[in-house]
Amino acid sequence: MRLLIVSNRLPVVVSKNDKGYELKKSAGGLVSGLTDYLHSLNKSDTVIDDFLWLGWPGMSIESKDQDLIRMEVNKVFKAKPVFFSQTLMDKVYLGFCNKTLWPLFHYFLNYTTYDRDYWLQYKRHNKIFCDEILKIIRPDDYIWVHDYHLMLLPALLREKISNPIGFFLHIPFPTFEIYRTLQNDVRKEILEGLMGSDLIGFHTHDYAQYFLRCVLRILGLENHIGEVEYNGRLVKVSTFPMGIDYEKFHAMNVAPFNDEKNQSNEEKIVLSVDRLDYSKGIINRLLGFELFLKKHPKWHNKVHMKMIVVPSRTGVPSYQRIKRKLDELVGKINGRYSNTNWTPIFYQYTSLPHKELISLYRRSNVSLLTPLRDGMNLVAKEYVASLQDKKGVLILSEFTGAAKELNESIVINPYNIEEIANAIEEALNLPEPEQIRCNQAMQQRLQRYNVTFWANDFVNQLHEMYRMSVSSLKKKKFTSQIQHDILERYRDAKHRIVVTNYDRVLVPFSGEFNSVEPTEFLKKIIAEITGNENTDLVINSGRSRKYLDKWLGDLDINMTAEHGTWVKDADTNKWTLMKKVSTEWKEEIMPILEMYNDRLPGASIEEKEYSVAWHYIKADVEQSSFISKELFDNLVSITHNMNIRVEYGSQAIEIYHAGIDKSEIVKYFLDKKKYDFIFLIGNNWSDEELYRILPDHSYSVNIGNIYTDANFMIKDHSEALFFLKSMAETI
Ligand code: UDP
Repeated sequence: MRLLIVSNRLPVVVSKNDKGYELKKSAGGLVSGLTDYLHSLNKSDTVIDDFLWLGWPGMSIESKDQDLIRMEVNKVFKAKPVFFSQTLMDKVYLGFCNKTLWPLFHYFLNYTTYDRDYWLQYKRHNKIFCDEILKIIRPDDYIWVHDYHLMLLPALLREKISNPIGFFLHIPFPTFEIYRTLQNDVRKEILEGLMGSDLIGFHTHDYAQYFLRCVLRILGLENHIGEVEYNGRLVKVSTFPMGIDYEKFHAMNVAPFNDEKNQSNEEKIVLSVDRLDYSKGIINRLLGFELFLKKHPKWHNKVHMKMIVVPSRTGVPSYQRIKRKLDELVGKINGRYSNTNWTPIFYQYTSLPHKELISLYRRSNVSLLTPLRDGMNLVAKEYVASLQDKKGVLILSEFTGAAKELNESIVINPYNIEEIANAIEEALNLPEPEQIRCNQAMQQRLQRYNVTFWANDFVNQLHEMYRMSVSSLKKKKFTSQIQHDILERYRDAKHRIVVTNYDRVLVPFSGEFNSVEPTEFLKKIIAEITGNENTDLVINSGRSRKYLDKWLGDLDINMTAEHGTWVKDADTNKWTLMKKVSTEWKEEIMPILEMYNDRLPGASIEEKEYSVAWHYIKADVEQSSFISKELFDNLVSITHNMNIRVEYGSQAIEIYHAGIDKSEIVKYFLDKKKYDFIFLIGNNWSDEELYRILPDHSYSVNIGNIYTDANFMIKDHSEALFFLKSMAETI
């Protein structure tokens, strides 16, 4: 199978000079990591045997040159360029991505700006990616979408294709309180965009949990151990901390670091390497180093800080500001502490090739990485991996994803300048055996969970998800061919019965649970079906008689109320109590329900003749998810010797006597005649019992729950209604 890697930038960067176009492989962490994985495909145990990478080639290419670029790119890498104008890319990359998403997802609300046009261009950009993929997609392709530039892409693709789609976010996912500051439509569409995937991966457990909380609060969807049911599919959210190419960093032969500016070989080096970004905590680091110098004059002339600062997003004003601040601060510290033999800070505004970087990693005594927020931080892993003699100390911010794995390092809070200063002193004094012990433990982990392992893990889980959920869903798909066959059986049958729930099947789910009157359209469908002499219809409901009579009393149909406590036969048009059951239990249950009801604003108790329902649709989604589970558990334990059933309904907990058995009621109707066509539509957990007791020649359909025992699954009530309409029209 082929893996389509989709990222905003291609692993090949195109530029233009006097002689024409020039192509260079790009050197970012994702590219080098994934390239390594892709080249190992034939050797590793994976379902993937081929790949193609799609992305922007780094500059706008005139239409007349696009074929040439396609060809040239293909010579260097198995890749397909997606072309954009510079104007669009500026609005998307420098605009929505790096003025809105990046600062917001890194908790820099003060840097976050929002421009409606940037958002609209972001949508256009994702749509163009989608169209390009659709041009080349094959049925056996797996798609792996990368990062915050393409968060709408999974859903756009999902509308058109059923291939497995995975998404990985390389930056943090923020908490709900931060995320919700996005515009209402934007925050919703981004989540819906991601939910088009089968598998969504994050670097850390925290990011995955924050995402799931946003899904609950904004889309109202609960998860079960990281799995969310969405639009009749299962979406898995999981953690995959990205690794590095350990062997490359550990084993590469490089010349020893040679820096003529280095005053003496004895001098210790505190190293920092990062892109120039406000999220990297560069200013705090300098302040920490300055305080260290102030507190520890004995280290003057004996240690210097070497900062490699890689130019980044130079077109964004906040990046230009941070550069000015950095220059000023380095100047100030050096001005204050330098002497003729010694300069405390060396700062290079450049990007080094890995060979030089590794040499520098090995020469440095301390690596000081102080991001205020960082999705992962690969430099931390690369530093530890490079240390062949295992000597060196990593100081790492607790706000990086990497800190979760590298906890043998000195983990610091970069907002605490004093802590940074103390950590530098501690690191410089750390005995070598201790350095070796810490680095050995970290290296073992990095060696095992390397970038190939990471990519394999993701792709294998994507495959597993697809195999498990999508393929089993296929079996339950209510295809037009299946619908056609059922309608033929319906037409040919002599005695037919249709059993259906009311809420969420015949009418949509509503917050106003006591005002879901049937539409005229629905009543017409019911009348047409039951107008046929050899067709019986049963509305099987948990509702009270009062509402069913109010809404459907004028129709000539069978009904059951309160989960089968009451039955109304179409022939007699009278309600019969099916079983005399006690209601004494209500006295004990009601005070408990009232207590929980008081605790959850928006919840309400519906007391019926023989049952009670506690509705929480109008309550706060997260609080109700929590409280309803607590109430459910409480009720189950309190009622375990009371002969009471406690069940989850639609945004409700239903409580009724255990003597009432929904399946008995269905059997009651089925026993009335020898039906040669039986069709049942349900939507609740309790309907699962019914699907299992139906005779073999029956058809059962469930709405929503993808683990259903029904024969088929449909998405929502409108699909149910559409099919019932076709039934009504079948003669
Ligand atoms: N890097 C590099 N040359 C440099 C500085 C950094 O090749 O001079 C690479 C570094 O090896 C690492 C990546 O850039 O792989 C930075 O990744 P990280 O996760 O630390 O930060 P990001 O820039 O992705 O926020």
